[in-house]
Amino acid sequence: MSLRFEIIKSSHAARRSTLHTPHGEVETPVFMPVGTAATVKGVPQDLLDQLGVQILLSNTYHLYLRPGIDQIRKLGGLHRFMSWPRAILTDSGGFQVFSLSDLRNVTEEGVTFRSHLDGSSHFLSPETAIEAQIGLGADIIMAFDECTEYPAEASRIRESMEMTLRWAARSKRYFADHKSEVPWNRSQLSAVSSQQNQIHVGPDVHVRAGERGSPKFAEQSSAGPPRAAVPTKPEQSQALFGIVQGGMDPALRKESAERTIEIGFDGYAIGGLSVGEPRALTREIVESTIEHLPKDKPRYLMGVGTPEEIVEYSKLGIDMMDCVLPTRAARHGLLFTSGGKISIKQARYAGDERPLDPSCSCQVCRRYSRAYLRHLYASNEVLSQVLNTIHNLTYYLDTMRRVRHSI
Ligand SMILES: [Zn+2]
Repeated sequence: MSLRFEIIKSSHAARRSTLHTPHGEVETPVFMPVGTAATVKGVPQDLLDQLGVQILLSNTYHLYLRPGIDQIRKLGGLHRFMSWPRAILTDSGGFQVFSLSDLRNVTEEGVTFRSHLDGSSHFLSPETAIEAQIGLGADIIMAFDECTEYPAEASRIRESMEMTLRWAARSKRYFADHKSEVPWNRSQLSAVSSQQNQIHVGPDVHVRAGERGSPKFAEQSSAGPPRAAVPTKPEQSQALFGIVQGGMDPALRKESAERTIEIGFDGYAIGGLSVGEPRALTREIVESTIEHLPKDKPRYLMGVGTPEEIVEYSKLGIDMMDCVLPTRAARHGLLFTSGGKISIKQARYAGDERPLDPSCSCQVCRRYSRAYLRHLYASNEVLSQVLNTIHNLTYYLDTMRRVRHSI
């Protein structure tokens, strides 16, 4: 058992469900905040907890380069490393290889690329990407795919889609052979546990009974930092999602969906969108892809979107979404409010004593004025990024709460 997807209610195409993961339950449709380098920039984990975050996304590419997969695996996996006891999803690293690194060389075998950090050479393939994601130990991991660029010729889209399908099969095969190696698997845990007992690190890695489904900082010792709860059932493992590609061609999307489903995954993602195409086309492709995805498995739309878009996609039947927009925009002083977008850097807010968004109940809106937030931004204070991110995340999470409530 890796993931149980329980649909609670449907309304037209939309559905409200609970994802039961080895690190707790996730109510969907869900927006997953992006914690690229094992941190949602500027927001400590206890605050994410308070905001009601049940799952966050982390990027394999970044963690692979720094601090390295082996390092995190030796420290017990990503949950334990970043002290986050709730669910995590990692991407395969493919998207960042295609968007961030220089001098990449794509072959059937995989992708050779240069690190954007120091220029060092690396190789990612379906096998190494899954190996890395098993080492990190996220609850949901992604097959290695090629994100087809936009625009692209019809022949190029087909070739890329075919390779993604072969890579999907290789990803699944490697995962099937190695999934027991996840750091929080019982056999792996007893190895870690005996190691740690020898060096008197403490008792906090022991498996406790009855913790499944209620993640909390349960194993906090009086001396040390809070530690992530660990799952108790030996048969629990990660879930692997496949990714549908096929560019902006509905026929290829249909074929990609059908053949990905034939390979068989725990959930299905729609990839290759938000790559520069017009918004109307994104929606059209999402709509035409969803109808070919199984009703009884989670559907994940990668890399979208604005507050309006996440509502719209939920209505179409998407269960999971992620985007850097609320967190990245916050750091640039762009804030989402019930009255529309606010650019807090503008001089007009210098004397504005109103809260950022009078109908937002976040701790920032309850406490601070626009004038103060504008001052923090203009002075380039660290607190500016922290407060702005807390508000934007709250806005996104509240939006999804309303969506779930309305279904
Ligand atoms: Zn707020």
